[in-house]
Amino acid sequence: LGGPDDEVSKAKQADRARRICGTQSPTIFSKIIDRTIPADIIYEDEKCLAFWDVNPQAPLHFLVIPKTPIPRISYVTEDDTELLGHLLVTASQLAKKEGLDEGYRLVINDGKLGAQSVYHLHIHVIGGRQMNWPPG
Ligand code: C5P
Repeated sequence: LGGPDDEVSKAKQADRARRICGTQSPTIFSKIIDRTIPADIIYEDEKCLAFWDVNPQAPLHFLVIPKTPIPRISYVTEDDTELLGHLLVTASQLAKKEGLDEGYRLVINDGKLGAQSVYHLHIHVIGGRQMNWPPG
């Protein structure tokens, strides 16, 4: 907690983000994290942030994002295991808090064919209506 090990791991994370993101960084989500642009934030802790999607696809639609700017789910490594678990647990807890007791959908879009538009990893939590399968 705040010791030299923490400083080393923060520096490692920053290096990794720069290497992976290159000129894509900072994305609009990094600006939401550092409050340069506004968002309707519903939850924040040291590892992640959740906010309502500006273009909702259902009555309830929010995003859970890591504070570390990982661009895509296809770029994660073993080192991200704990963080990814934390994002999923947070998504589940927030869905429960929002009353999505009858079910909802989690979506992670990846890359061009996955229709990803913001290259900062995010989990969509979409609910409040009947979902269909297959997705579009
Ligand atoms: O998965 P994909 O990259 O397509 O999703 C990006 C999402 O981020 C979109 O649903 C878009 O509405 C949302 N967004 C947002 N606030 C912004 C920019 C984008 O909620 N300022």
